[in-house]
Order: sequence, then C-alpha cells, then structure tokens
Amino acid sequence: MSQVQLSDVTKVYDDVLAVEDIDLTVRDGEFLVVVGPSGCGKSTTLRMVAGLETISGGEITIGSEVVNDVRPQDRDIAMVFQNYALYPHMTVRENMSFGLRLSGEYDDAEIDERVEDAADLLEIPELLDQYPKQLSGGQQQRVALGRSIVRDPEVFLMDEPLSNLDAKLRSQMRTELQRLHEELGVTTIYVTHDQTEAMTMGDRIAILNEGELQQIAEPEVCYSEPNNRFVAGFIGSPSMNFFEVDVESAPEGVSVTGDSFETVLDVSLAPGRYTLGVRPEDLYPADGAGRIPADVDVVEPMGADNYLYLTPPTEGDGETEIIARVDNEFRPDPGERVMLDFDVADVHFFDETGDRVPTETAAEHTT
Ligand code: ADP
Repeated sequence: MSQVQLSDVTKVYDDVLAVEDIDLTVRDGEFLVVVGPSGCGKSTTLRMVAGLETISGGEITIGSEVVNDVRPQDRDIAMVFQNYALYPHMTVRENMSFGLRLSGEYDDAEIDERVEDAADLLEIPELLDQYPKQLSGGQQQRVALGRSIVRDPEVFLMDEPLSNLDAKLRSQMRTELQRLHEELGVTTIYVTHDQTEAMTMGDRIAILNEGELQQIAEPEVCYSEPNNRFVAGFIGSPSMNFFEVDVESAPEGVSVTGDSFETVLDVSLAPGRYTLGVRPEDLYPADGAGRIPADVDVVEPMGADNYLYLTPPTEGDGETEIIARVDNEFRPDPGERVMLDFDVADVHFFDETGDRVPTETAAEHTT
C-alpha cells in the first residue's frame, strides 16, 4: 500500500489547460473519489498518476518515489476502465492471468493461486473456464477487476468503471467494490461524474471544476460545509436552491432581501450582495408567516417525501425554479401559493466570487 501525492500538478494540451496546479494527497489505504462534471480534468488527472499522460508541471509521488518519469508498467498501479475489453478468445482464467504471465515474474503455481484467490474474493470461481461472451455485464466487470487484483498493486486507479452497467447492477457493484476495498485495503483513486457514487463510496471526495480542485474532504463535510457555490450546487440531489440577495444590518441580525422575499436572519454577516443557498430538504411549509412565497408548479411524490417544483411570484422573470423536499403529507395543488420556511442554521451564504462565507448564528455567538 502507498500514499499518492500530487504537488502543483498541471497538464496543458496544446492550448487547453486541462488540469491546473492540483495539490492533493491520497492517504495510504484510502478510497478517494475524484468527481466533477464532464471535461473538468478527472481522467487526465488519473492518467497522469497512471503514467499514460506526461505531466506538464508539478510532481507526482507514489509511496516515496517521484514517478514523473517512471514508465506506467513500472509504477505498481493497476487500472480499471469503463471499457473492460476482455480478450474474447481467452477464458476468464486466461484473461485474469495474462498480465502475470506476460511479466515473466511468476511461476505457474503462483499464477494459479493468485487467480483462484481473486476469483474467490469476487465470488466468480465457477466462471473461470467460461469465455467473456458467456458472461453478463456485471460478471465481465468482475473479471476486469480480477485482472487488476491478481497483480496485487500498490494503488488501484478506476476510471468510471461502473458507467456501462444498468442502474441496479451499478448499485450492487458499488457495494461490491466497497467490500473489496475493505478486504484488500489498497489505496484507490476512483473517477466518476456521478455525485451519488462519490457521496456513497468515497472515504473522501475531491471535487474538480474546470481543471481546478474545489474541495477535498469527507462526503458529509462537502455536503454541509461546501467551500464554494460550485461544490454546493454539485453535491446533493436535487441541487441546492440559490437566491441572489442583498444583506443589510438589522437590530436582530441581518435583513436579507431577494427578488421575491425579505426576511430577517439572526446571523452575523457583513452587509453586501450575496447568494443565499438552501437545500431542498431544508425547506418546509411555514407554520406561521414563513419566509419565501412560491407558486407550486408540480408535486412529485417520491414515497416518504414529495418534491415540490415551485416558481417565485416575481413578475418579469419566472425563470428561477425552487425545489423543496417536503413530508409526503404536504401535497398542495398546482397553482397554489405556499409559504416556505427554513432554519437559520441550514442556510449558506456565498460572496460575489462564489466562496462560502461562514456565518454564526447569534445563539452560537453567545455560547
Ligand atoms: P473529464 O475526465 O473530467 O471528463 P478530461 O480529463 O478528459 O475530463 O479532459 C479535461 C480537458 O482536457 C477537456 O477540456 C478535454 O477536452 C481536454 N483534453 C483531454 N484529453 C485531451 C487530448 N488528448 N488533447 C487535447 N485536449 C484534451
């Protein structure tokens, strides 16, 4: 096992700055998920760690070795891709042992033992003599994993390995990968564009946007203390609601004025222009006066909850949509005006650069 460290890593393709000054450490034995929208530089980052792309600037260390100029086959990593590309004319056993044979480092008995151990771990020993075309997508993905496991690498690098699988299988394989990680304890970097996958699988997640690292932290920290508006909107489903607001001092805290609401919040915050963020699950129907009026467009029953899709009653721009995740007993009619409320402890403020501005409620302030 090994720690992987990226220091100031940059990648430029011709005139595209794909990855910019990334600093991050993947701890020994950690499962780190790298997540972000398409084109943000995830694959490029992973491919630089693998040695499949040259590094334009900075340094990558695996264990204690700087690997910038080390060939991929000498890096002691194993990669699992979305396209698992098994050799069709080889059995599962042959597919899994191929890399070991090619390396010339192991005798037959050792190869057999490694393949059989990996097959047991993946619960596919009965498939060893079958051919890829006889296997389901999930079984093929297991074989692809098996091919990496037999090499007993210091680091696993996984690039969207589950994206070819249907939703049910994907969620099964997620659990499976976590179990494998627990058993093997190998440092793993896992790339995905899917925030749900990141939230459920990662010990920590690294969120990229436009080639830059936005935040690296435990999933719950990214959720409850996002560094900036990008992270706030990317993590969590449905996404956080954002309102552009003016903040002024008020005797009881601050007065917050948006296009269609005005409310007083008991927090300490410098006056100015901000984006106010409230997650759908933190909005609820007001018991009294409420804070945010909105007109119901659609009510989507989700079982335990209803998702309300609403529009603020501002004349002129009816564009902003508000989503509220409420108890399933609250089911207003489309067209109805409702008053929504939120707790002051659940809101986030972002300044004009997009950075989150931590606030203290008066209650916290006095304790
Ligand atoms: P992601 O994996 O997050 O979707 P990539 O790492 O594949 O993003 O790409 C990051 C950026 O680098 C994108 O703008 C992409 O177009 C660009 N890029 C990736 N590979 C190449 C390449 N071989 N040549 C030129 N530009 C590339």
